[in-house]
Amino acid sequence: MSAVCFNPFIMLDAWPAIFVADLLRYVIPTSFVALVISLLPPDWAVLRRVRLRQPEAGQQGRELSFSLLTVLIFSMNGVVIFAGAKLGWLQIYTAVNDRGWMYLLASLAGLVVLHDAWFYWTHRLMHRPRWFRWIHGVHHRSVAPTPWAAYSFAPAEAVIHAVFLTLVLAVLPLHPLAIFVFLVHMIARNVLGHAGIELVPGRWLAGWWGRWMTTTLHHDLHHAHGRYNFGLYFTWWDRIGGTEHPDYRGRLREVVHQIAQASFTTAAGQPRGRENSK
Ligand SMILES: [Zn+2]
Ligand SMILES: [Zn+2]
Repeated sequence: MSAVCFNPFIMLDAWPAIFVADLLRYVIPTSFVALVISLLPPDWAVLRRVRLRQPEAGQQGRELSFSLLTVLIFSMNGVVIFAGAKLGWLQIYTAVNDRGWMYLLASLAGLVVLHDAWFYWTHRLMHRPRWFRWIHGVHHRSVAPTPWAAYSFAPAEAVIHAVFLTLVLAVLPLHPLAIFVFLVHMIARNVLGHAGIELVPGRWLAGWWGRWMTTTLHHDLHHAHGRYNFGLYFTWWDRIGGTEHPDYRGRLREVVHQIAQASFTTAAGQPRGRENSK
């Protein structure tokens, strides 16, 4: 039997780089979307706004504070993954050719689909009254969320989100590229979901994207009402589980209609309408 030589201090050495990577993964997309929103022409923003209320004073500071705490917890989970891989308990392979590109792409797709299911079902459990207050209540303090709410979780909720990747790596070998793309997709969709304004093209919302993918409106309705729209990336779990907001499809059609009308009047050289000034 060969003894496993593992120096625990390499975990301490690895932590700063993992923390910085997690921090940048939160700060860059969140700052970018917040900047884009601040630079939008006011009429364009009004027509695409799905958030019905305004964020409260001091809300963004709170969202940022809890998100930075989540970054810290995610980085500690990253150290656990790093150590688990070193010890051979978690499976990370570095040569693409070991399993081929098809495996890499299929594992990435599987990771996204699995994560959506993990998120939906743990999210529903977190809404049970006995757990909501201690685990998920922090996230719902943002009734009208901003992009900075992407990681605004209580520590217990951050651990529930973090542990998903660790559990998958215990059974499914993943390439670092697949993990990286998965994490970038996760934060991008997460930030867009909390943006309060639909930033994807109107044609996407009217087509397959709006049918199968969650939109900003989808998650905004979750924050506004709490009882509906628990999904993260896809709409199918909410449809299967009977938790899609009853007004969601109608509201989405209204948004698509408004965007299309604005495009038409702009193309015709007329000023954009302001029919929805909420
Ligand atoms: Zn949210
Ligand atoms: Zn929730």
